[in-house]
Amino acid sequence: MSTPDLLKLRIGISACLLGQEVRYNGGHKRDAFLTDTFGRYVEWVAVCPEVEVGMGTPRPPIRLERRGEEIRLVMTSTGEDYTDAMRSWAERRVAALAEMDLDGYVLKKDSPSCGMERVKVYSGEGAPSKDGRGLFAETLMARLPDLPVEEEGRLNDPLPRENFIARVFVHHRWREGEKEGWTRASLMRFHERHKFLLMARNQNGLRRLGRLLGNSGKETPAPELAAAYRQGLTEVLRRPATRRGHTNVLQHLAGYVSDALDPADRAELAETIERYRLGLVPLIVPLTLIRHHVRRQGVEYLQEQAYLEPHPYEMMLLNHV
Ligand code: SF4
Repeated sequence: MSTPDLLKLRIGISACLLGQEVRYNGGHKRDAFLTDTFGRYVEWVAVCPEVEVGMGTPRPPIRLERRGEEIRLVMTSTGEDYTDAMRSWAERRVAALAEMDLDGYVLKKDSPSCGMERVKVYSGEGAPSKDGRGLFAETLMARLPDLPVEEEGRLNDPLPRENFIARVFVHHRWREGEKEGWTRASLMRFHERHKFLLMARNQNGLRRLGRLLGNSGKETPAPELAAAYRQGLTEVLRRPATRRGHTNVLQHLAGYVSDALDPADRAELAETIERYRLGLVPLIVPLTLIRHHVRRQGVEYLQEQAYLEPHPYEMMLLNHV
């Protein structure tokens, strides 16, 4: 399976994570994984909402405050309210981002502008609640609900990291299909290609998507079908695959190659999958063995499966799950 053209993998990001000195205190929050590892495969689109909305750097800190039913974005020292300015700027900026062929977005955690979840909200008394979302992040996620979005904090954890990047590559392939215009047949091919990737995450979700394509009448226009499929796809991919889910998929894949193996190779494959199931080896170990057999036996159906190489091998994301 070919890796997407590196320059076409375009990801939005909170600018401070790239090392740009745009934080309230004139500092940055450079993230080495994003800049040095993931960055090799990505053209970043850096956005600092607070700078772009005109707050300048350095600037007094801002925070989310609860006022009755409303959440407001307020400069702590002056009480100046930036909510309306931020919301209307965010609408315009996200509309522009929607035209830029993004395949994902990485947000800075805890920020009242960029934080995606558990951002502090102050209500005047006691400790702040941690249930807010940054105002820019809120607009981004509402307007582009299918875009893979993750916080840099969670990307330090191998499981969400692998899942986010797998989603980014699925999103890229989806956009490629979209550019050519979805037909019933091309949607089916997309679904087949992602069958095991989806199975590892949610078997019922995989079946639902299969039924959606299989049961829709010919009168359903392809764009309508594609929109419904896309929504279901996003839901299935949101949750990372579990070890149990991967083990199930590995056993399915082994079923395609086992018959042609001699007893020793068959036993080795079964044993490797079992070691993975028990947590003794990472996913890359059984997957590499299966890839080897798939290639040697020329199992065409599996060679096209996104599951066998969900992202570039060199990123080594499967060495840690
Ligand atoms: S978290 Fe967002 S608003 Fe704050 S400095 Fe970083 S990019 Fe700018």
